[in-house]
Amino acid sequence: MTGHVVVVGGGHAGVELAATVRAADPLAALTILGEEPHLPYHRPPLSKGILGATNPTEDSAVVGLRALKWFEQKDIALRTGDPVVQIDCNQRAVKLSSGAEVAYDQLVLATGSRNLELKVPGGDLPGVHYLRTFDEAVQLRSALRCGGSVVVVGGGFIGLEIAACASKVMRSVTVVEAANRLLPRSVSEVTAVHLSDMHAANGVAVLVGQSVTRIIEDAGRAAGVVTSAGTVLPCDLVVVGIGVVPATELAVSAGLRVDNGVLVDSFLRTSDERISAIGDCAAFPSADRDGGQVRLESVQNAVGHARCLAARLTGTGAPYSAVPWFWTEQYGAKVQMVGLVQGHDRTVVRRSQDNSGFSVFCYAGERLLGVESVNRVRDHVGARALLENRIDLAPELAARPDVDLRQIAHSAPAA
Ligand code: FAD
Repeated sequence: MTGHVVVVGGGHAGVELAATVRAADPLAALTILGEEPHLPYHRPPLSKGILGATNPTEDSAVVGLRALKWFEQKDIALRTGDPVVQIDCNQRAVKLSSGAEVAYDQLVLATGSRNLELKVPGGDLPGVHYLRTFDEAVQLRSALRCGGSVVVVGGGFIGLEIAACASKVMRSVTVVEAANRLLPRSVSEVTAVHLSDMHAANGVAVLVGQSVTRIIEDAGRAAGVVTSAGTVLPCDLVVVGIGVVPATELAVSAGLRVDNGVLVDSFLRTSDERISAIGDCAAFPSADRDGGQVRLESVQNAVGHARCLAARLTGTGAPYSAVPWFWTEQYGAKVQMVGLVQGHDRTVVRRSQDNSGFSVFCYAGERLLGVESVNRVRDHVGARALLENRIDLAPELAARPDVDLRQIAHSAPAA
């Protein structure tokens, strides 16, 4: 018997966990406790479709993860707008900000992550925006209607997606990135250069190797930024996308082990056997990194963790070992990544014969770490199969667009 499973956080991980437990155990008692006032929603559209949407009444259709009726039909208790403020591990109960207490047999932390704040003078002025929640997306969309100029601080995926959306409505868009190139930890140089060129072709200026040191104030609002190189960029609004920190406050105060995320074992169990952690907030042993802990921020990771944990809570379960993948969309281009390419020392590029897309195979020695595909969905699907089957495709085969990756993945003996 599963008992009462209480999930803290109604995001991708929390909702998938409840759905998967319910599918396996019709009798489990399930509760999701959410801090936000809304029904659970998809985050990826917040920096894509939602920002450009002209009919905001369609928002809930675009972003809703499940309708209220679904939670009722599945007998999943959903409490929104009432954050959990404390875990009592001895009593096996959580306390909510309203004062209510909820007892659990199994507690699941699916608290996600929070935006890293830009701690510079003027960083808290009106006109400085962040993007993590639905409410922030609606505010940013409304601010972008001014049509003036915007500086996006941070050239990560979210910053670049915001820049791409803003370029359609703003007179001037500048991205300021502290590293020497875009996305240094996430993608190869080949893909980074391609993205940078795409932004340039759409009129977005990208400044790399400069960090923002100050926000300029005018009439009580953000009116520009100053960079470490002394560059002054006047603007009407600033959007900050400089990364996130895992939401671990509850775990820390409960005395759970935390180190850049709630530390879990390969079964997603924290240092308290009745408490698990999944999604953005969890640091778990990487199947590929010689046992090192890794923390990932992606829908695939959140959903994969949720399914893995649900299997353990309702049966025997198995260690989490999924190959990570991620996607971004900018200017209509679909960029899909599989594997973790940090530490690669060689790349092999395969281009479509009609030049409409390409894939970058990233190797460390002979080992295939990951593959990035731009408008090459077939390559992405094939590369996932290769990595799932641990096949280090020979570089000379990787370069040939006629080579069917899926066929190799399913026919070659695993390395
Ligand atoms: P979240 O979805 O962040 O959900 C956690 C929830 O827990 C939040 O609602 C939070 O309010 C709640 N919570 C926190 N603390 C408490 C508490 N004490 N009590 C109750 N509730 C609490 N990933 C991709 O793979 N592809 C993309 O294209 C992509 N685009 C993105 C665009 C944007 C703008 C953002 C912000 C993220 C994007 N991501 C993307 C990342 C992806 O959305 C996250 O990795 C995913 O949402 C993680 O799911 P989660 O359930 O772990 O956390």
